[in-house]
Amino acid sequence: MKTPIYICEEELLEKNLQILNKVQQQAGCKVLVALKGFALWASFDLLEKYLSGATCSGLWEAKLANMKNWEVHTYSPAYKDDEIDEIAQISDKVIFNSFSQLQRYQNRVKSKAKIGIRINPEVSSSPVALYDPCGVYSRMGVTIDNFQEDLLENVSGLHFHALCEQDSKALIKVLEGVESKFGKYLYQMEWVNFGGGHHITRSDYDVDELIEIIKRFKAKYDVEVILEPGEAVGWQTGYLVSEVLDIVENGMKIAILDTSAEAHMPDVLAMPYRPEVRGAGKPNQKRYTYRLGGNTCLSGDIIGDYSFDEELKVGDHIIFEDMIHYTMVKNTHFNGVRMPSIGYKRKNGKLWIVREFHFEDYKNRLS
Ligand SMILES: *Cc1c(COP(=O)(O)O)cnc(C)c1O
Repeated sequence: MKTPIYICEEELLEKNLQILNKVQQQAGCKVLVALKGFALWASFDLLEKYLSGATCSGLWEAKLANMKNWEVHTYSPAYKDDEIDEIAQISDKVIFNSFSQLQRYQNRVKSKAKIGIRINPEVSSSPVALYDPCGVYSRMGVTIDNFQEDLLENVSGLHFHALCEQDSKALIKVLEGVESKFGKYLYQMEWVNFGGGHHITRSDYDVDELIEIIKRFKAKYDVEVILEPGEAVGWQTGYLVSEVLDIVENGMKIAILDTSAEAHMPDVLAMPYRPEVRGAGKPNQKRYTYRLGGNTCLSGDIIGDYSFDEELKVGDHIIFEDMIHYTMVKNTHFNGVRMPSIGYKRKNGKLWIVREFHFEDYKNRLS
């Protein structure tokens, strides 16, 4: 197998989709995949069997979603004049981030798509400021102080997104903020979108509580409820296989790989977090400890320190777990490093190499 390569396993993906579909069925809501976090379109036929549609951050994601016959919801922090007509054409719902954007474009959207407004409940819940849409001076959504109830004529839904890898208890807190601030507007809406960040497919997530929360909300306000998780779709559905290229010494042993945290696992540096490596332990937990580093010239392109039962050798494979969401969608060609290939392992065990990257992919981006 040519490395580096991401391998998404259809069987694991289907398990997640079944959990998300259970939420749809039992709560009577819609679940959309957030393409921002997971856009492996080789798997869209499978997604289409279980989910209601896709949520998109703008024109290109909406066009990708439009390859399938499912619902397309689009939200962007701001739309461009030369894109809004096409977005309205291919979206079922268009969500505005502000009343000024609503006023600018509502007449070009209202006959083609339903219109929503993103609200900011100002309940900070995300564990990391980088991923907190409710922090001080956040540009994401309208706060209650800036809410213009006189401009709701064409608005049929409200949208909030305030969570990041969180459980149903965090959703309860956010909903308290939403209801206490925006409660009176909820009664006049047709639909409410609860955003993403729900870690529904994590093994300790309380799916039954989520279902109860949605049922209660629907009954109280008589609205359709929509969830749009990205991470929960791709959560633990595959891995990134890399190869050891060299081992150097500087106070400790350092293995240099044919992959990069900066270019191929960007959340390792942005969040930051330490991904699991198959068969490895914490530093010094097993006999041989190594720092794993990437093949770019960024000094901080370090994935982390890990220990192994056996000494690493050049040519060994290192497998990073849970590398399907927020990787391919964020990758760069920094340093001209080859992007990992994309593989999809079918339920029958066959590995489909969906995509390999070549020099032309790098060259064509640059002039
Ligand atoms: C990022 C985002 C999502 C998906 O979030 P996950 O954490 O991947 O579930 C959904 N909706 C909006 C508006 C987002 O910005």
